[in-house]
Amino acid sequence: MLDRSTNHPPLPPEIARRRTFAIISHPDAGKTTLTEKFLLYGGAIQMAGQVRAKGEARRTRSDFMKMEQDRGISVSASAMSFPFRDWWFNLVDTPGHSDFSEDTYRTLTAVDAAVMVIDGAKGVESQTRKLFEVCRLRDLPILTFCNKMDREARDTFEIIDEIQQELQLDVCPASWPIGMGRDFLGCYDMLNDRLELMDRADRNRRAESVKMEGLDDPRMADHVPADLLEKLREEVEMARELLPAFDHQAMLDGNLSPIWFGSAINSFGVQELMAGIGAYGPEPEIRPAASREVGAWEAPVTGFVFKVQANMDPKHRDRVAFVRLCSGHFERGMKLLHVRSGKPMAISNPVLFLAADREIAEDAWAGDIIGIPNHGQLRIGDALTEGEALRFTGIPSFAPELLQTVRSGDPMKAKHLEKALLQFAEEGASKVFKPNIGSGFIVGVVGPLQFDVLASRIEQEYGLPVRFEPTQFTSARWISGPKDKIEAFVKANKGHMAEDHDGDPVYMTRLQWDIDRVERDFPELRLSATKEMM
Ligand code: GDP
Repeated sequence: MLDRSTNHPPLPPEIARRRTFAIISHPDAGKTTLTEKFLLYGGAIQMAGQVRAKGEARRTRSDFMKMEQDRGISVSASAMSFPFRDWWFNLVDTPGHSDFSEDTYRTLTAVDAAVMVIDGAKGVESQTRKLFEVCRLRDLPILTFCNKMDREARDTFEIIDEIQQELQLDVCPASWPIGMGRDFLGCYDMLNDRLELMDRADRNRRAESVKMEGLDDPRMADHVPADLLEKLREEVEMARELLPAFDHQAMLDGNLSPIWFGSAINSFGVQELMAGIGAYGPEPEIRPAASREVGAWEAPVTGFVFKVQANMDPKHRDRVAFVRLCSGHFERGMKLLHVRSGKPMAISNPVLFLAADREIAEDAWAGDIIGIPNHGQLRIGDALTEGEALRFTGIPSFAPELLQTVRSGDPMKAKHLEKALLQFAEEGASKVFKPNIGSGFIVGVVGPLQFDVLASRIEQEYGLPVRFEPTQFTSARWISGPKDKIEAFVKANKGHMAEDHDGDPVYMTRLQWDIDRVERDFPELRLSATKEMM
């Protein structure tokens, strides 16, 4: 586990005010709506509704792909930066559909905390659970937002209990809902003793926020009807007895999650949640690397690529590497060492993902996410430093579990297809294998929907209609070991061999028996289902 103690040099104020987080949720719980409200309060958009509406006019944000519009799912993760009060938020958007887990997992390596959104009527759902498990692997601090309290929701204790039981995570109420559904009035802010009332008439306004001297403050009765007030007092008393009290360190260690109740669509509870992220969310964290841990207070700039996305703007064939800065103060034009190639790289056009648009970044600090346009040099997992040969660890790679052959509707465009497939492989969206014998390509993915996404992107971005078809192979294994042994093996198994996008040898088969046999007959070789990201 990382050392999250405060026993380290203080962070420069610019770094200390940064909060870099992702939102995790089951589809439909309200992630998009909440994101929109974050941007609204972050001053990044003028009117709620723009995140979605802009998808058509401008293709730089969450929904820039047709697939997303067609199916209502977010395929691509992007990053958005905006100020809120004294803080600077970096919100990294994770795709919601389970098929995009690989991308999602890697995105979660770039953040320091996660906001978990649950639907008050549905509680913990399958995708919430999966994503939470990924957060748990890294002990990420979790802040919970229980959404849709303006609808019939479950009993508050029941919801909290479900999270505690299902996720094995202590939950501490940061706010307590008053009424629900039609009678939802607002919340009592348990951490700051304030009454927060919702304005039903105006979705983006909070009716009132009143500082109270505890729940017995007689002014409570001016705002809350007697029956609801009695219930609130009873429940809060019980909650204080039965549920854990807020413990900041336990939260930072990933063992306790504060929960806010609200209604994203009515903007209710959102600012309280944001203030919670600011006040209690972690500062940019220490990052694990192969030889040492990198602290955000260190002066030299370091960062790693957690995502590569091509054709963000279909008019320009650009490729953007998303880099999480781990330490230092980055300034435009800096020359950084690209550790994998050992070559210096002048970062002259870094992009800052200000929520309103992409913008050239003049500078950025540890914790920030910057985009670096490039022509394919930057790959997922790559480190950039001011000279140290660092290798950041913990960026997962997943085994391609589904293999299909891809066929172009236009056989004259094989080169075109190859280019598209290589590009998506470099983005980390899929794996591509070129069999040693015969022509064509085999594509490997983690979830079946990824084939649809790829087909749609190849058609849109390259104007090339393609079909995916079953292949004779079901498993792919990367081969490593002494060079001569690999060569002998490749020669003897030509019909099973392919190369990946880096030209590394891959053994393909449909039988586990084959894999066992190879492992038995070629003890010097190592077969692995995933390829290291470096
Ligand atoms: P996502 O799939 O998690 O991004 O969810 P969306 O933000 O797209 O929301 C899913 C649906 O729930 C949409 O129809 C929203 O309008 C609706 N929704 C989101 N937040 C609320 C809320 O607070 N109350 C109610 N009643 N509906 C909401």
